[in-house]
This record gives sequence, C-alpha cells and structure tokens, in this order.
Amino acid sequence: MEPIEKLKAFNIHKADPVKDIGLINQYALKELKPEDVMCFSLVLCDNEVDRDMEQFSVKSLEALSKMFVGKTGIKNHSWDTRSQVARLYRVELQKTAEKTSTGEQLVQLLGSAYMLRTEENKALITDIEGGIVKEVSVGFSIRKLACSICGEQMKRSWWEPTKCKNEHIKGKDYEGKTCVGMMEDPADAYEFSFVAVPSQRGAGTVKGFEPDTSLFKMIMAVSPEELAQNEEALDAVIKHLLVAKQSQEEREKRKRILAENEKILKLYEKEN
Ligand SMILES: [Zn+2]
Repeated sequence: MEPIEKLKAFNIHKADPVKDIGLINQYALKELKPEDVMCFSLVLCDNEVDRDMEQFSVKSLEALSKMFVGKTGIKNHSWDTRSQVARLYRVELQKTAEKTSTGEQLVQLLGSAYMLRTEENKALITDIEGGIVKEVSVGFSIRKLACSICGEQMKRSWWEPTKCKNEHIKGKDYEGKTCVGMMEDPADAYEFSFVAVPSQRGAGTVKGFEPDTSLFKMIMAVSPEELAQNEEALDAVIKHLLVAKQSQEEREKRKRILAENEKILKLYEKEN
C-alpha cells in the first residue's frame, strides 16, 4: 500500500539529555555533551481510532517501534522546504491507564528525539519549548488495512469510500458496530515532521499552483531504465509525487491546523 501520513497531537514531555546522552551518541560522529542537545518525547502513534476511522493494533505499534528508531524529524515551514532537524533515539510502547473509544487499553508509541542546539535550530527549539509547535505529522506504510467487521483487506481509492470486498464501508455502522480500518503489518516508518508554524503572517499557506506541463513532459521523457539507474533520485521523485497526491481531506486538515497555529501565534504575540 501507499505511504500514509497522519497528523498527531504532539504531547511534549521533557527528556533528560544527561541520562540519554549515551543513546544519542550512537547516532553522532563526534561525541556530544548533554548541553549540546535538546531532547523531547512525543507520541508518534497510538491504538485510538483516528480521524480517518483507522486504528493500529498493538501488534502493529510493536512492529513500528523498531522501525521508527533512528528516523529523522523534519521541519517544514512551508510545505516545499524541508530539512532534517531531529532524530529519534528511543521509541517504546507505553501502556496507559486510559481507554480508547472502543474500550481497549490505550497504548502509545512514545518516541524520544534530540535536536542540536545550533543557531539554526534555535527558533524551532524555542517554539517547541514554548508550546507553539504542538503537532507533528507521522509517515509510515502498512501492508494491510483490515476491515474490523470481517477482517478482509480494505481498499482505498480516490473516487469512492474505503471498503472491503464484502461492501463494509469504513465509518458506517453494522449491527451496532462501527467499521474501522485496522492498520496491520507495517512495512516501514518514515520521518515525522513538525507541522508548519507561520513565522510571519501569511507564511505557510498552501498556494495554488499552475502545473507546468513542460516539467511533466520532461519527467515522462526519461525512460524507466534510466530512472532506475539512480535509486536515490528515483526515490526522491516518487516521494515528491506522493506528497503532491495528498488527498483533499489531508489538505483541509493542514489548512485547519495552520489556522489554529495562526490563532496560537496571535495569542503568543499578545503575551509577549
Ligand atoms: Zn468487511
């Protein structure tokens, strides 16, 4: 199945750089000291039914915990400029005392990440510490979306609702039970990204674009064999196209979050 991106509330907890510096140094080429880094932990996924009426099983979360370690966090102030700013050095399952909306024990996938205290990261660190950046989007891919009613594979499509071959439609009720897409068998976890914070009024808005047909023609003119020769470039192009293919729903969500961020930013400006 295609890579999936989900938005997730970013419940920030402080992580202890003094205690964790050994783990962090596994990823660094030069030895870092606790004062060189800023650490935080965040909930990457959980087994709650999400806004898309989809849910992870605890088994999937377990598999994802191994896949997310070492992955990066990227910043995207505007959706097209991305850079790696953080790295997950520990990812573990956390069983909570809370229940999910379906009555199961709420289990979270808790990641701890570090950022370097560099001049470039200063603004983002301030925003994270100040609670301005509070949501992340998490990318992963799964092999199976199972119907919670009958267990059959559900099919996503861009033109009709997600359903299984027994016509159970995601979000609809069947004899009092809501059909949910169970996300099973994760294939990979990608980076997480900090949701854009408009650093100035109007920044971060998704702009409409005029497709440049000559560019598409250029890509289509390259033979598949030629593209396959440069794996890295090919991956970059595929990723770029997948981002471009984001559903209207995802765009709407991002617009809502940007509006919310904008509100918070106004509050923040008033207070300071
Ligand atoms: Zn079904």
